[in-house]
Amino acid sequence: MHTDENNKIVKAAQMILDSRHAVVFTGAGASTESGIPDFRSPGGIWDRFDQKAFDYSTFIQEEESRVLHWELFRSLGTSALPNPAHYAIGELCKSGFLKAVITQNIDGLHQRGGAPTNLVHELHGSMNNFTCLECRCKLVLDAVLELARASLVPECPECGGILKPDVVFFGESLPENALKQSVEESSLCDLFIVIGSTLAVYPAALLPEHALSKGAKLMIINLSGTPLDKNADLVIHDKAGKVMPRIATYLKNHPG
Ligand code: NAD
Repeated sequence: MHTDENNKIVKAAQMILDSRHAVVFTGAGASTESGIPDFRSPGGIWDRFDQKAFDYSTFIQEEESRVLHWELFRSLGTSALPNPAHYAIGELCKSGFLKAVITQNIDGLHQRGGAPTNLVHELHGSMNNFTCLECRCKLVLDAVLELARASLVPECPECGGILKPDVVFFGESLPENALKQSVEESSLCDLFIVIGSTLAVYPAALLPEHALSKGAKLMIINLSGTPLDKNADLVIHDKAGKVMPRIATYLKNHPG
């Protein structure tokens, strides 16, 4: 590894060691190394799908939109596994270096990568659970995938209603509890670490600004630039799956 890269890893680890309450905030870039495409990188989801078809009212009203949604769910890779970034974040949570994981991701990979469920706040919901919009019955992803094998757009097995994943669509509010806890964590923290997010989706992208306004330090680990790079105390433009395990190894060897 180059000296400059090495220095940044040591600085990142030192910032975590010096912090009282460090939280991470992840976006789709934390899961690209698990084979799940992000939205805005070249070849990402918005290069293949028309964003306009993905709001809540279109999903409810148009069968065609539900067909597109199902094409997208299938392409999000329901068999994806956690990558080294998820495992490193999980390890840092368990060793107490990280106090919370605020995620915009809906893939559940932080929990499968070892982050304790009570520390993970899913701002945009989870695709592991579905609700029927008619009878409100709940189904887990595996049951819905079983139905999806026989049908392009699976329907509720109880009443034939529309099945919607418990994820936040454009035009829907964020889940109250996850939002409340994420705002609390952003107020409390003295170090806010952004991993794999363009910081372009609101209101989620307000959280790092909120943490900054409360005096927290900001670290950004992202392949491309973000609008908050200029406000950050440390920016690492590299892959999360390469950077996070190195930070975790350093902290294991220098526990403070
Ligand atoms: P985004 O697509 O706007 O940005 C992803 C960012 O991650 C980009 O800036 C890119 O440069 C960076 N990136 C890509 N691979 C990376 C890597 N290996 N290491 C570090 N950085 C990397 O994503 P966003 O900001 O999360 O906003 C998109 C919205 O889409 C979010 O609301 C999220 O819920 C949703 N989404 C979720 C998933 C998922 O659950 N895995 C996948 C796609 C989109």
